Amino acid sequence: MSDHYDVVIIGTSFAASFFLLRYLEHAAPTVKILVLERGNEDTKAWQLANKKTSSIPPEDLYENDNLTKDWLTSPGFGGNSKCWMGGTTRMMPGDFQLKTRYGVGLDWPVSYDDLEPYYCTAETVMSISGPADSPMPRSIPFPLPPHRFSTPDELLKKRFPDGWYGMATSRASVATGKRGVCCATGMCALCPVDAKFTVQNGLAHIYDDPRITLKLRAEVQTLETAAGVVQGVNYLELDRMQRATGDLIVLCASALFNPHILLRSGFDHPLIGRRLHEQLPVYVTLNLKGVKAYDGSTVLSGLGYLFYEGEHRREHAACMIETWNVPFANRPEDCFRFEPGRFRERMMLGFLFDDIPSDDNTVTVSKSNPRLASVHFGDYSDYALRGAKQIPKMIDKLAEALPIEKLLTVSQGPTAAHIQGTVVMGNDPATSVVDRHLVHHKYRNLLVLGASSYPTASPAYPTLTVSALSLWAADNILARSA
Ligand code: SF4
Repeated sequence: MSDHYDVVIIGTSFAASFFLLRYLEHAAPTVKILVLERGNEDTKAWQLANKKTSSIPPEDLYENDNLTKDWLTSPGFGGNSKCWMGGTTRMMPGDFQLKTRYGVGLDWPVSYDDLEPYYCTAETVMSISGPADSPMPRSIPFPLPPHRFSTPDELLKKRFPDGWYGMATSRASVATGKRGVCCATGMCALCPVDAKFTVQNGLAHIYDDPRITLKLRAEVQTLETAAGVVQGVNYLELDRMQRATGDLIVLCASALFNPHILLRSGFDHPLIGRRLHEQLPVYVTLNLKGVKAYDGSTVLSGLGYLFYEGEHRREHAACMIETWNVPFANRPEDCFRFEPGRFRERMMLGFLFDDIPSDDNTVTVSKSNPRLASVHFGDYSDYALRGAKQIPKMIDKLAEALPIEKLLTVSQGPTAAHIQGTVVMGNDPATSVVDRHLVHHKYRNLLVLGASSYPTASPAYPTLTVSALSLWAADNILARSA
């Protein structure tokens, strides 16, 4: 016995929720949609009481053979929107055309212009705060006013007006409906004042739609295929195997679990589970002379695009720089100085480099327990590592704006907390799993949404692009069925 639905959606994070948002606007009043979420509700009150964002621990989700590298994931209603920091940069136009413009990596099968209107919608839905100017073309202003720069950001903006910008973020600069104002304490995974956008505080209402049946604690095991289509979904609900059939299946379980589910289901494209990647993060601390930092109004107060777009991308990775306005979580003791009167004359910067994914970095099915994903990450590409070697030169450039007394530390971080690749998109079925609208090349009633589709990393935070791609994918499906 099984239940039949018009649409079965797996997951409730950004990819699923933005798809649903657009799909529900145009779908028939009689459409039946099943949403399967692996985790629990894990309300905000529960998260604060338990000081974590998910009631499912990582060891119940995946095994990881690289103990120096974390992968951040948060099952439960709203998914990784519970644990993200709220950064919402757009990708730059060149990120979509690395091969054409710079002769390296791969082109994406979508362009910046394709996604621009969808970026606007996603920013509006999430009430993004951002500056009046922008390093990339924009057709509308940000919905909310910008956060306040720190004093070092002000100096950088003055010296590099086209290279330093205010943060684009869902950490609200003014109160918005259910969300308070960001107060720059930097506990953003939990965000005690609920300032950042989450599905729980911003899109939960769409799941109240009578066309939707939402099942929590429903862990999808496999997709069933027959006659060139995905016919059904098998899932464990309270340890009992259940089955639902659907006309359209939308897999939105993240770049860790999208390939895990496809591989368990017998999908055999050689790229499924390959090209796991994210940005290479490097953190720098500087002593300043006579300039005090940490007076911006949000956890990351400025963004540097000086070393992002340009011909250097032929040789090494591009870089987006972020100004940290609170201590690095892993090294709070580095944040301040202890000479009298000079407590805040220190600056912390994050440097995020794009990466060219390797087929050798993988997500597979655990041999010992198939319910676990097995993650293998060897290293970043030489291209990314060559980018990081440019940091001393970059600091010299920043010294044109900042009174840098001493470069104290340069250290690679364990993770940028982004998970990308593993079910990549492209125009050619031989070299990609899904097409430019994130429809599976072979099974045309299957969408695989989220950052798993990313052919390459960009230095930008990935979430806004995930949300825009889901709106784009929904529009395509709606047009197809009109
Ligand atoms: S800085 Fe504080 S208020 Fe702002 S998003 Fe992070 S935790 Fe929330």
